Amino acid sequence: MAKVKHESSWYPLEPGESVLEGLLRQGVSVPNSCRAGACQSCLMKAVGGAVPEAARVGLKDTLVAQGYFLACTCRLPEGTELEVAGAEGLRVPARISALSPLSRDVLKVSLVTDAPLDYRAGQYVSLVREDGLARSYSLASLPREGVLELHVRLITGGAMSGWLASEARPGARVFLQGPAGSCFYVPGRPEQPLLLAGTGTGLAPLYGIVRDALEAGHSGPIWLFHGARTPAGLYLREELRGLAERHPQLHYRPCVLEGGTRDIAEGPLDVLIRAECPKPVGWRAWLCGDPQLVLSLRKKLFLSGLSLKDLHADSFLPSVPQAGASPTDTAGAR
Ligand SMILES: Cc1cc2nc3c(=O)[nH]c(=O)nc-3n(C[C@H](O)[C@H](O)[C@H](O)COP(=O)(O)OP(=O)(O)OC[C@H]3O[C@@H](n4cnc5c(N)ncnc54)[C@H](O)[C@@H]3O)c2cc1C
Repeated sequence: MAKVKHESSWYPLEPGESVLEGLLRQGVSVPNSCRAGACQSCLMKAVGGAVPEAARVGLKDTLVAQGYFLACTCRLPEGTELEVAGAEGLRVPARISALSPLSRDVLKVSLVTDAPLDYRAGQYVSLVREDGLARSYSLASLPREGVLELHVRLITGGAMSGWLASEARPGARVFLQGPAGSCFYVPGRPEQPLLLAGTGTGLAPLYGIVRDALEAGHSGPIWLFHGARTPAGLYLREELRGLAERHPQLHYRPCVLEGGTRDIAEGPLDVLIRAECPKPVGWRAWLCGDPQLVLSLRKKLFLSGLSLKDLHADSFLPSVPQAGASPTDTAGAR
């Protein structure tokens, strides 16, 4: 049997159980959300014992060097022991500076951190509430803007989005952990064609990346596809249209599955992308939002010639409800 030590108590793990599952099962609160190694909310620090390589996949080298690992993907070999601590030391205190609607079901959350957060537009952070509830959100802002901007889709019964929409007020204290992820613009090839595609709040990182690229002087064509089921699901249309007018290399394409108009294309996102960008060989692409759409677009772009090394994707994986808990009970300890 493998064992985990947390705050001076030992917890046995069942065969095949992850450190996160074992701790939660035995009543230890650990912030978590996707439980698939994507959101990084369950980051912990090993203070004794060896961490399997799989629990470090996707983490920055600097975090790995300090012993951090993901509790959700950490499965210990039989008979081994690991001593762990939380990741509180990595969290930056912040406060909500403004909350404003971007559409009927998307909220713009503006945040100011107590200490500077070193990030690139398009990366994501874990937003951690004072009671430990944690969810990941992509950064739509540019570092020079000072205020961090998140676009949060309101989910019926959603613990974090529900709190932000109806209870949180400007001035509320929160913590940010991160940034993480490789969805950001890297200067160096200003003429390379860029393709950005996302649905719903998948626009958040793309809005940051596209503005970052334009400010860096990107001169090659930039195609931005934002998809939604109906026009009500699109947002920031005026801002993006204005941006495209000021930068002729930017082609902004809002699209919907139903209810298209003269300005909004109608049809599946992949079909529209293929019609406008049939041969993206040598391009760079970012795909964000709905996990199934991200996966299928990734495959299709690869098959049309885009190299995997030039493809960056963030799937907005939802949280996994804790066994026997309502969505609002999924807060972990700070
Ligand atoms: C890397 C990453 C980046 C992300 N970036 C963003 C972002 O920029 N903006 C954003 O809005 N979200 C983003 N998400 C998703 C976000 O982290 C939360 O999962 C989401 O906001 C729901 O949290 P909640 O607490 O409101 O709902 P929860 O309490 O977690 O969920 C309530 C119920 O709704 C279900 N549910 C959750 N999400 C969805 C969904 N999309 N569709 C259908 N059912 C769902 C849950 O499984 C659960 O049953 C990102 C996720 C990841 C992994």
